[in-house]
Amino acid sequence: MSILELPRLAEELPFWENTLWNRIYEVNVLQSKLRLVSGIRSWVEEKFGSVSEVEDHKIIRVTNLITGEGALFNSLRSKRPMTRFPSRDLDSLVEEHRQGCPFCSPEDRTPEDSFGRIRGKYCLTAANLTKYDGYHSLIIPREHHPLRFDEDMVEDYFQVAARWFHEVNVYAASEGDSTATLYPFLMWNCLWPAGSSVVHGHLQVTVTPKRHYPKVEQLRQCSLRYAYNYSSNYFQDLYVLHKALGLSWAEDEFRLLSLLTPIKEKEVWIFPPLGPVTFDKLGLVGRAVCRVLNRLKQQTPIQSFNVAVYLPPLEMEADAVGWKEFPILARLVDRGNVFNRTTDFGAMELFATSVISSDPFSVARLLRP
Ligand SMILES: [Zn+2]
Repeated sequence: MSILELPRLAEELPFWENTLWNRIYEVNVLQSKLRLVSGIRSWVEEKFGSVSEVEDHKIIRVTNLITGEGALFNSLRSKRPMTRFPSRDLDSLVEEHRQGCPFCSPEDRTPEDSFGRIRGKYCLTAANLTKYDGYHSLIIPREHHPLRFDEDMVEDYFQVAARWFHEVNVYAASEGDSTATLYPFLMWNCLWPAGSSVVHGHLQVTVTPKRHYPKVEQLRQCSLRYAYNYSSNYFQDLYVLHKALGLSWAEDEFRLLSLLTPIKEKEVWIFPPLGPVTFDKLGLVGRAVCRVLNRLKQQTPIQSFNVAVYLPPLEMEADAVGWKEFPILARLVDRGNVFNRTTDFGAMELFATSVISSDPFSVARLLRP
Protein backbone atom coordinates (compact mmCIF):
# COMPACT_ATOMS: atom_id res chain seq x y z
CA MET A 1 0.00 0.00 0.00
CA SER A 2 1.20 3.50 -0.71
CA ILE A 3 -0.07 7.05 -0.52
CA LEU A 4 -0.61 6.87 -4.32
CA GLU A 5 -3.41 4.38 -3.65
CA LEU A 6 -5.16 6.62 -1.11
CA PRO A 7 -8.00 7.77 -3.45
CA ARG A 8 -8.93 4.13 -4.19
CA LEU A 9 -8.53 3.03 -0.56
CA ALA A 10 -10.78 5.86 0.61
CA GLU A 11 -13.47 4.89 -1.91
CA GLU A 12 -13.37 1.26 -0.83
CA LEU A 13 -13.76 1.99 2.90
CA PRO A 14 -16.78 0.46 4.66
CA PHE A 15 -19.83 2.74 4.97
CA TRP A 16 -19.10 4.30 8.38
CA GLU A 17 -15.37 4.83 7.76
CA ASN A 18 -16.17 6.27 4.32
CA THR A 19 -18.56 8.70 6.02
CA LEU A 20 -15.72 9.73 8.35
CA TRP A 21 -13.37 10.07 5.39
CA ASN A 22 -15.72 12.43 3.52
CA ARG A 23 -16.23 14.42 6.71
CA ILE A 24 -12.56 14.83 7.60
CA TYR A 25 -10.40 14.51 4.47
CA GLU A 26 -10.10 15.42 0.83
CA VAL A 27 -7.50 13.87 -1.48
CA ASN A 28 -6.42 15.13 -4.91
CA VAL A 29 -4.09 13.46 -7.39
CA LEU A 30 -1.95 15.98 -9.22
CA GLN A 31 -0.26 14.88 -12.43
CA SER A 32 3.15 16.47 -12.80
CA LYS A 33 4.66 16.43 -16.29
CA LEU A 34 7.90 17.85 -17.64
CA ARG A 35 10.24 17.31 -20.59
CA LEU A 36 13.87 16.45 -19.88
CA VAL A 37 16.41 17.98 -22.23
CA SER A 38 19.23 15.75 -23.47
CA GLY A 39 21.87 17.47 -21.31
CA ILE A 40 20.36 16.17 -18.06
CA ARG A 41 18.76 12.84 -19.02
CA SER A 42 21.64 10.64 -17.93
CA TRP A 43 22.14 12.69 -14.72
CA VAL A 44 18.43 12.28 -13.88
CA GLU A 45 18.60 8.54 -14.53
CA GLU A 46 21.59 8.25 -12.23
CA LYS A 47 20.04 10.31 -9.40
CA PHE A 48 16.39 9.25 -9.63
CA GLY A 49 16.65 5.78 -11.17
CA SER A 50 14.02 6.38 -13.86
CA VAL A 51 13.63 9.08 -16.50
CA SER A 52 9.98 8.32 -17.19
CA GLU A 53 9.10 8.51 -13.49
CA VAL A 54 10.49 12.05 -13.34
CA GLU A 55 8.89 13.12 -16.64
CA ASP A 56 5.47 12.02 -15.50
CA HIS A 57 4.85 11.57 -11.79
CA LYS A 58 1.98 11.87 -9.37
CA ILE A 59 1.74 14.16 -6.36
CA ILE A 60 -0.89 13.41 -3.72
CA ARG A 61 -2.49 16.34 -1.93
CA VAL A 62 -4.32 15.60 1.34
CA THR A 63 -6.37 18.23 3.16
CA ASN A 64 -7.92 17.88 6.62
CA LEU A 65 -11.24 19.72 6.27
CA ILE A 66 -11.72 19.93 10.05
CA THR A 67 -8.37 21.43 11.08
CA GLY A 68 -7.13 22.93 7.82
CA GLU A 69 -3.90 20.90 7.96
CA GLY A 70 -2.55 19.75 4.62
CA ALA A 71 0.30 17.86 2.98
CA LEU A 72 1.69 17.41 -0.52
CA PHE A 73 3.32 13.99 -0.95
CA ASN A 74 6.04 13.45 -3.53
CA SER A 75 8.43 10.57 -2.83
CA LEU A 76 10.81 11.76 -5.59
CA ARG A 77 11.84 14.65 -3.38
CA SER A 78 13.72 12.28 -1.06
CA LYS A 79 16.05 11.45 -3.99
CA ARG A 80 16.90 15.04 -4.96
CA PRO A 81 20.55 15.93 -4.55
CA MET A 82 21.39 17.67 -1.26
CA THR A 83 24.39 19.77 -0.34
CA ARG A 84 25.93 18.29 2.79
CA PHE A 85 28.57 19.19 5.30
CA PRO A 86 31.46 16.71 5.01
CA SER A 87 29.95 13.45 6.26
CA ARG A 88 31.56 11.92 9.33
CA ASP A 89 30.84 9.54 12.17
CA LEU A 90 28.10 11.05 14.34
CA ASP A 91 29.15 9.12 17.46
CA SER A 92 32.67 10.56 17.40
CA LEU A 93 31.28 14.06 16.78
CA VAL A 94 28.96 13.67 19.81
CA GLU A 95 31.93 12.42 21.82
CA GLU A 96 33.97 15.54 20.94
CA HIS A 97 31.20 17.68 22.43
CA ARG A 98 31.60 15.89 25.78
CA GLN A 99 34.66 18.06 26.33
CA GLY A 100 33.47 21.10 28.29
CA CYS A 101 29.80 20.02 28.05
CA PRO A 102 27.85 22.05 30.68
CA PHE A 103 25.06 19.45 30.78
CA CYS A 104 27.57 16.76 31.84
CA SER A 105 28.05 18.78 35.08
CA PRO A 106 24.58 20.30 35.48
CA GLU A 107 24.74 20.83 39.28
CA ASP A 108 27.74 23.17 38.84
CA ARG A 109 27.18 24.60 35.38
CA THR A 110 23.43 25.15 34.91
CA PRO A 111 21.10 27.50 36.83
CA GLU A 112 18.27 26.10 38.94
CA ASP A 113 14.65 27.17 39.31
CA SER A 114 13.55 29.36 42.24
CA PHE A 115 12.02 26.23 43.79
CA GLY A 116 15.21 24.21 43.24
CA ARG A 117 15.86 21.15 41.09
CA ILE A 118 13.85 18.02 40.57
CA ARG A 119 15.92 14.88 40.39
CA GLY A 120 14.91 11.61 38.79
CA LYS A 121 16.82 8.36 38.45
CA TYR A 122 18.22 9.27 35.03
CA CYS A 123 17.90 13.07 34.84
CA LEU A 124 17.47 16.36 36.69
CA THR A 125 15.98 19.76 35.93
CA ALA A 126 17.71 23.08 35.32
CA ALA A 127 16.28 26.54 34.71
CA ASN A 128 16.71 27.76 31.16
CA LEU A 129 19.09 30.73 30.94
CA THR A 130 17.12 32.32 28.09
CA LYS A 131 13.50 31.35 28.58
CA TYR A 132 10.73 31.11 25.97
CA ASP A 133 8.09 31.84 28.58
CA GLY A 134 7.65 32.82 32.25
CA TYR A 135 8.27 29.22 33.28
CA HIS A 136 10.73 27.36 31.07
CA SER A 137 13.21 24.71 32.21
CA LEU A 138 15.29 21.84 30.95
CA ILE A 139 15.25 18.15 31.75
CA ILE A 140 18.87 17.06 31.45
CA PRO A 141 19.57 13.33 31.14
CA ARG A 142 22.70 11.97 32.83
CA GLU A 143 23.51 10.33 29.46
CA HIS A 144 25.45 12.71 27.21
CA HIS A 145 24.68 11.03 23.86
CA PRO A 146 21.38 12.48 22.59
CA LEU A 147 20.38 9.28 20.76
CA ARG A 148 21.07 6.81 23.60
CA PHE A 149 17.99 6.18 25.70
CA ASP A 150 15.74 3.29 26.67
CA GLU A 151 12.16 3.04 27.94
CA ASP A 152 13.10 3.30 31.64
CA MET A 153 15.11 6.46 30.95
CA VAL A 154 12.43 8.21 28.87
CA GLU A 155 9.73 7.21 31.37
CA ASP A 156 11.84 8.90 34.04
CA TYR A 157 12.30 12.08 31.92
CA PHE A 158 8.54 12.35 31.42
CA GLN A 159 7.80 11.63 35.10
CA VAL A 160 10.22 14.38 36.11
CA ALA A 161 8.37 16.68 33.68
CA ALA A 162 5.09 15.88 35.49
CA ARG A 163 6.74 16.64 38.85
CA TRP A 164 8.13 19.93 37.48
CA PHE A 165 4.66 20.99 36.29
CA HIS A 166 3.31 20.25 39.78
CA GLU A 167 6.10 22.29 41.42
CA VAL A 168 5.45 25.25 39.11
CA ASN A 169 1.78 25.14 40.03
CA VAL A 170 2.57 25.13 43.76
CA TYR A 171 5.20 27.86 43.34
CA ALA A 172 2.86 30.08 41.26
CA ALA A 173 0.19 29.78 43.98
CA SER A 174 2.74 30.63 46.70
CA GLU A 175 3.75 33.73 44.73
CA GLY A 176 0.12 34.87 44.70
CA ASP A 177 -0.13 33.98 41.02
CA SER A 178 -3.08 31.61 41.48
CA THR A 179 -5.78 33.40 39.52
CA ALA A 180 -4.62 32.45 36.03
CA THR A 181 -5.02 28.94 34.71
CA LEU A 182 -1.62 27.49 33.81
CA TYR A 183 -0.99 25.44 30.67
CA PRO A 184 1.95 23.01 30.47
CA PHE A 185 3.95 21.96 27.41
CA LEU A 186 6.66 19.30 27.03
CA MET A 187 9.07 19.13 24.11
CA TRP A 188 12.21 17.31 23.00
CA ASN A 189 14.44 18.63 20.22
CA CYS A 190 17.26 16.25 19.29
CA LEU A 191 20.32 17.68 17.54
CA TRP A 192 20.75 20.60 15.16
CA PRO A 193 18.11 20.08 12.45
CA ALA A 194 15.48 19.88 15.23
CA GLY A 195 16.52 23.27 16.63
CA SER A 196 18.68 22.04 19.50
CA SER A 197 21.68 24.21 20.34
CA VAL A 198 23.36 21.80 22.80
CA VAL A 199 24.47 18.32 21.68
CA HIS A 200 23.91 16.67 25.10
CA GLY A 201 20.33 15.32 24.98
CA HIS A 202 17.73 17.43 26.77
CA LEU A 203 13.97 17.92 26.97
CA GLN A 204 12.23 21.22 27.69
CA VAL A 205 9.19 22.09 29.76
CA THR A 206 7.21 25.32 29.76
CA VAL A 207 4.11 26.62 31.51
CA THR A 208 2.10 29.48 30.06
CA PRO A 209 -0.78 31.40 31.67
CA LYS A 210 -4.39 32.13 30.68
CA ARG A 211 -4.61 30.17 27.42
CA HIS A 212 -2.68 27.38 25.77
CA TYR A 213 -0.19 27.95 22.94
CA PRO A 214 -2.00 28.87 19.71
CA LYS A 215 -1.39 25.58 17.87
CA VAL A 216 -2.65 23.51 20.81
CA GLU A 217 -5.64 25.80 21.24
CA GLN A 218 -6.42 25.72 17.52
CA LEU A 219 -6.56 21.90 17.54
CA ARG A 220 -8.75 21.96 20.67
CA GLN A 221 -11.16 24.46 19.09
CA CYS A 222 -11.39 22.30 15.96
CA SER A 223 -12.12 19.22 18.06
CA LEU A 224 -14.81 21.10 20.04
CA ARG A 225 -16.46 22.28 16.81
CA TYR A 226 -16.31 18.70 15.52
CA ALA A 227 -17.99 17.39 18.68
CA TYR A 228 -20.70 20.07 18.36
CA ASN A 229 -21.37 19.34 14.67
CA TYR A 230 -21.20 15.54 14.73
CA SER A 231 -21.78 14.55 18.40
CA SER A 232 -18.61 12.52 18.21
CA ASN A 233 -15.01 12.76 19.41
CA TYR A 234 -12.56 13.98 16.75
CA PHE A 235 -9.57 11.96 18.03
CA GLN A 236 -11.63 8.77 18.31
CA ASP A 237 -12.92 9.19 14.74
CA LEU A 238 -9.43 10.01 13.46
CA TYR A 239 -8.21 6.76 15.03
CA VAL A 240 -11.07 4.68 13.56
CA LEU A 241 -10.46 6.14 10.10
CA HIS A 242 -6.67 5.72 10.15
CA LYS A 243 -7.11 2.17 11.49
CA ALA A 244 -9.40 1.25 8.60
CA LEU A 245 -6.69 2.51 6.21
CA GLY A 246 -3.95 0.50 7.98
CA LEU A 247 -2.35 3.66 9.41
CA SER A 248 -3.23 3.22 13.08
CA TRP A 249 -3.01 0.52 15.69
CA ALA A 250 -3.33 0.01 19.45
CA GLU A 251 -0.33 -0.76 21.64
CA ASP A 252 -0.57 -1.23 25.41
CA GLU A 253 -2.61 1.70 26.69
CA PHE A 254 -2.11 3.83 23.59
CA ARG A 255 -3.22 4.44 20.06
CA LEU A 256 -0.54 5.13 17.49
CA LEU A 257 -1.24 6.82 14.22
CA SER A 258 0.84 7.58 11.12
CA LEU A 259 -0.79 10.87 10.20
CA LEU A 260 -2.25 11.61 6.73
CA THR A 261 -1.33 15.29 7.03
CA PRO A 262 2.10 15.18 8.71
CA ILE A 263 3.63 18.54 9.54
CA LYS A 264 6.99 17.06 8.54
CA GLU A 265 8.52 13.68 7.75
CA LYS A 266 7.11 10.54 9.43
CA GLU A 267 4.80 12.30 11.85
CA VAL A 268 3.38 9.89 14.43
CA TRP A 269 0.68 10.63 17.01
CA ILE A 270 0.45 8.75 20.29
CA PHE A 271 -2.56 9.15 22.56
CA PRO A 272 -4.59 7.12 25.05
CA PRO A 273 -8.25 6.17 24.46
CA LEU A 274 -10.80 8.62 25.82
CA GLY A 275 -10.87 8.92 29.58
CA PRO A 276 -9.79 11.23 32.38
CA VAL A 277 -6.44 12.84 31.62
CA THR A 278 -4.04 12.76 34.53
CA PHE A 279 -0.38 13.67 34.62
CA ASP A 280 0.56 10.35 36.23
CA LYS A 281 0.11 8.90 32.72
CA LEU A 282 3.02 10.97 31.41
CA GLY A 283 5.62 8.32 32.29
CA LEU A 284 3.75 5.76 30.17
CA VAL A 285 3.53 8.28 27.32
CA GLY A 286 7.33 8.54 27.61
CA ARG A 287 7.69 4.75 27.26
CA ALA A 288 5.47 4.76 24.14
CA VAL A 289 7.43 7.68 22.61
CA CYS A 290 10.69 5.84 23.31
CA ARG A 291 9.44 2.66 21.62
CA VAL A 292 8.57 4.61 18.46
CA LEU A 293 11.91 6.46 18.43
CA ASN A 294 13.88 3.26 18.99
CA ARG A 295 12.00 1.44 16.22
CA LEU A 296 12.73 4.35 13.87
CA LYS A 297 16.39 4.28 14.93
CA GLN A 298 16.60 0.53 14.18
CA GLN A 299 14.97 0.78 10.75
CA THR A 300 15.96 4.19 9.39
CA PRO A 301 19.00 6.40 9.89
CA ILE A 302 17.01 8.79 12.16
CA GLN A 303 19.44 11.23 13.76
CA SER A 304 17.34 14.25 14.59
CA PHE A 305 13.75 14.50 15.77
CA ASN A 306 11.17 16.70 17.49
CA VAL A 307 8.68 15.46 20.07
CA ALA A 308 5.89 17.59 21.58
CA VAL A 309 3.26 16.63 24.14
CA TYR A 310 -0.06 18.50 24.29
CA LEU A 311 -1.44 18.60 27.84
CA PRO A 312 -4.54 20.02 29.54
CA PRO A 313 -4.32 22.83 32.12
CA LEU A 314 -2.58 22.09 35.41
CA GLU A 315 -4.46 20.77 38.42
CA MET A 316 -7.75 20.84 36.55
CA GLU A 317 -6.52 18.10 34.22
CA ALA A 318 -9.51 15.79 34.39
CA ASP A 319 -12.26 18.40 34.84
CA ALA A 320 -11.25 21.49 32.91
CA VAL A 321 -14.16 22.75 30.84
CA GLY A 322 -13.58 22.07 27.16
CA TRP A 323 -10.62 19.76 27.86
CA LYS A 324 -12.43 16.59 28.93
CA GLU A 325 -12.44 15.15 25.42
CA PHE A 326 -8.91 16.29 24.56
CA PRO A 327 -6.33 13.52 25.09
CA ILE A 328 -2.72 13.77 26.20
CA LEU A 329 -1.26 13.86 22.69
CA ALA A 330 2.38 13.19 21.79
CA ARG A 331 3.50 14.18 18.28
CA LEU A 332 6.87 13.28 16.81
CA VAL A 333 8.65 13.94 13.52
CA ASP A 334 11.94 12.91 11.90
CA ARG A 335 14.12 15.94 11.04
CA GLY A 336 16.60 14.13 8.82
CA ASN A 337 20.33 13.83 8.46
CA VAL A 338 22.41 16.07 10.74
CA PHE A 339 24.94 16.68 7.95
CA ASN A 340 22.41 18.21 5.50
CA ARG A 341 23.04 21.86 4.76
CA THR A 342 19.52 22.30 3.39
CA THR A 343 16.84 22.62 6.06
CA ASP A 344 13.58 20.74 5.58
CA PHE A 345 11.42 23.83 6.31
CA GLY A 346 11.13 26.42 3.55
CA ALA A 347 8.55 29.02 2.52
CA MET A 348 6.04 26.28 1.62
CA GLU A 349 6.09 24.81 5.12
CA LEU A 350 6.20 28.18 6.88
CA PHE A 351 3.52 29.94 4.88
CA ALA A 352 1.54 27.43 2.79
CA THR A 353 1.49 23.67 3.45
CA SER A 354 3.72 20.72 4.34
CA VAL A 355 5.75 19.09 1.57
CA ILE A 356 6.48 15.47 2.46
CA SER A 357 8.64 12.76 0.91
CA SER A 358 7.98 9.93 3.41
CA ASP A 359 4.90 7.79 2.78
CA PRO A 360 2.58 7.41 5.83
CA PHE A 361 1.88 3.80 4.78
CA SER A 362 5.63 3.00 4.85
CA VAL A 363 5.92 4.71 8.25
CA ALA A 364 3.09 2.53 9.62
CA ARG A 365 4.83 -0.60 8.24
CA LEU A 366 8.10 0.43 9.91
CA LEU A 367 6.52 1.05 13.29
CA ARG A 368 3.82 -1.55 13.69
CA PRO A 369 5.19 -4.16 16.12
ZN1 LIG B 1 27.23 16.24 27.99
